[in-house]
Amino acid sequence: MTTPQDAISAARKDGRSALDEATGKQLLETFGVTVPQSIVTKDADSAAKDAGGLKFPVVVKVMSQDILHKSDAGGVKVGLQNADEVKDAIATMAALPAIKKATVDGYLVEEMAPAGQELVVGGLKDPQFGPLVMVGLGGIFVEVLKDVAFRICPIEEIDAREMLAELKGAALLKGARGQKPASEDAIVDVLMKVGGDNGLLMQLEDDIAEADINPLIVSETSAVAVDARFILTEQKSS
Ligand code: ADP
Ligand code: MG
Repeated sequence: MTTPQDAISAARKDGRSALDEATGKQLLETFGVTVPQSIVTKDADSAAKDAGGLKFPVVVKVMSQDILHKSDAGGVKVGLQNADEVKDAIATMAALPAIKKATVDGYLVEEMAPAGQELVVGGLKDPQFGPLVMVGLGGIFVEVLKDVAFRICPIEEIDAREMLAELKGAALLKGARGQKPASEDAIVDVLMKVGGDNGLLMQLEDDIAEADINPLIVSETSAVAVDARFILTEQKSS
């Protein structure tokens, strides 16, 4: 098993300023955050064989350093029911202009997370305060309304609960407007694994400049990180 340090060193050696999505999810898994079962495949032809062990339906996503917003580039296809659909989805993606001109590392094929509310959990290394952890409700709540809560790491469980209570959209988590409630305990657990004393941001503070789990899909019983981006700190060449 690769350790977080090995994965980070390998990315740096490769000249990368960020971890690819599959590596980012392995990192989260090391810290106990649930991520979907997944495989990485090279192209449409190898997909059927590689994806054989996964439970359908699955999602296919393009992996490329050149593509930050995969959906915008046509690089995310959810709800694929069998190996043929996976193969077709990759072939279609590979032919899209935005993907054709990118350097593609491969295609991530992963299981669908249980349905739930989409949240964002993130972090960054502040030059003055050190690691900060952030949580917000997904979609327009983060992007338009900037409804997010920040804390300086390390946080305790009570801080994590306060962060959630602070959100203007906090009522939505409890299941307002006909939505199923999102498990507060599952969110708090992820916040501790990211921002707690033994959490990812504290443990890797020399290497992680920014962390972004967007979205974390939270059902009544689970929280699954379905997208993960980690930007590495700049290192003085030694
Ligand atoms: P990007 O943010 O780069 O466009 P994401 O990986 O976040 O790509 O995927 C886009 C959207 O697709 C997510 O916000 C989520 O709604 C959905 N999605 C992605 N992966 C999964 C998954 N494993 N299970 C369920 N839904 C997913
Ligand atoms: Mg995303």
